[in-house]
Amino acid sequence: MRVHPTPESPFDLDVPVLIVGAGASGMVAALAAADAGGEVLVVETDPMPSGSTALSAGLIPAAGTRFQRDAGISDDATLFAGDIQAKAKGENSQALVDLLARNAGPTIEWLADRFDLPFSVVTNFDYPGHSRRRMHGLPSRSGRELVDRLRASCEAQGIDIICNRRAETLFRDGNRITGVEVESPEGPERIGCETLVLACNGFGGNREMVARFLPEIEGALWFGHDGNRGDAVVWGEALGADCQHLRAYQGHGNVATPHSILITWAVITEGGVQVDVHGRRFWDESQGYSEAARAVLAQPGGVAWTIFDARIAAVARQFQDFKDAEAAGAIRTSDTLDELSTICGLPAGALAETLGAIPQAGADSIGRVFGGPPLAPPYCAVKVTGALFHTQGGLSISSDARVIRKSGDVFPNLFAAGGAAVGVSGSGDSGYLSGNGLLAAVVLGLIAGRSAAQQTTREQLDA
Ligand SMILES: Cc1cc2nc3c(=O)[nH]c(=O)nc-3n(C[C@H](O)[C@H](O)[C@H](O)COP(=O)(O)OP(=O)(O)OC[C@H]3O[C@@H](n4cnc5c(N)ncnc54)[C@H](O)[C@@H]3O)c2cc1C
Repeated sequence: MRVHPTPESPFDLDVPVLIVGAGASGMVAALAAADAGGEVLVVETDPMPSGSTALSAGLIPAAGTRFQRDAGISDDATLFAGDIQAKAKGENSQALVDLLARNAGPTIEWLADRFDLPFSVVTNFDYPGHSRRRMHGLPSRSGRELVDRLRASCEAQGIDIICNRRAETLFRDGNRITGVEVESPEGPERIGCETLVLACNGFGGNREMVARFLPEIEGALWFGHDGNRGDAVVWGEALGADCQHLRAYQGHGNVATPHSILITWAVITEGGVQVDVHGRRFWDESQGYSEAARAVLAQPGGVAWTIFDARIAAVARQFQDFKDAEAAGAIRTSDTLDELSTICGLPAGALAETLGAIPQAGADSIGRVFGGPPLAPPYCAVKVTGALFHTQGGLSISSDARVIRKSGDVFPNLFAAGGAAVGVSGSGDSGYLSGNGLLAAVVLGLIAGRSAAQQTTREQLDA
């Protein structure tokens, strides 16, 4: 990844708005730019748009939406912003938190109304740290559906997404970005642009950067999109951009092993627990799934067993991943805890003793507060490990998603969205509030795309 001065020979192609990356942030940016009257081109390194977005559950938090009102949920941006900051212990920029919290609802409604994305709000379980039920998802509760519907919307708007094009070099003229060189199957191509949106996510797929910034999770299973190699941060460093919270990331401590299938954290929030290979609890699971990765990896063998029951399995079954895990034989079941201990290879009687020590209501000795129905037969168990999902640090941005320089002023025509920009998950692994990833992808995608298009229009009028 390089930054070079503008070449003397003309570009092969010129576009007003160029977007690097066709995940949620890139495609939402493209829709927003086109909606604002901009002519837009998206370049994507993969043969088909997918990204981390397609690997996700596609759940996006938003406050004060009509979907919530229809479900009788009262919520607002102030509450939402407070939850984000509480999870990250106030380490985020308040301005960025407010920007995301305020714009999430309108963004979801815009996607639903303008492009017919059939969102609904998850009403049958709570995500840790969210004081209201505010996760919005598509019918299959899968990121694959989100990507496919965004791609179909781009196609319907006549937006070109050129795949098999990896952006390698940015061209600059002072602080202005003038174009990009992409590697294509036919060789290098140079595309000039008036504005550039970086929507190429973070650096989870770059082993060297993970070792440099996130050594504590370096050895974990990588569960994100391989194509996310940290290009935005590398270009940003070369351009003199300000990067923030590069040690922040989302982990997950509930990935079925050896099947490598995500098990929804609803199995925990609904009353399930995690035990080590001795059948003993080892942490307060209610803290969240991101920090669960390190908690699980610290156990013998880097694994744990997540224990829940058939009632909880019925809730989890709304997720395709959970159904896939059942089909793959990852979920073990039994009518008795003793038999489940045997099936899982845990010491005899261990599960009965551990579950017997959980109070009906109130805090246990570890500090977790229980209150729901106790686990009841038939019981379920799944062997899990900890994984790295995606990084949360990135380029600092202004309220219109313009990239900020180390000197504090902004690049005039460079924007960042989604995982390319700094997130709102604090400085480590425990600040990630469920949904922070797609929140930044769709909200900043809309803001960046709209701002980029408006700038090209403004410059045409000024010329
Ligand atoms: C298993 C899993 C589950 C998750 N579940 C959730 C969830 O339920 N809710 C939530 O909010 N978040 C979730 N996340 C996080 C969420 O998926 C991401 O935060 C979000 O998808 C980021 O969107 P993006 O558009 O920035 O990146 P991506 O979707 O990764 O898109 C970036 C695109 O840029 C392309 N690209 C990269 N570099 C270049 C280049 N140089 N040139 C051209 N193209 C390039 C990539 O190939 C990729 O297609 C999950 C993540 C994982 C891995």
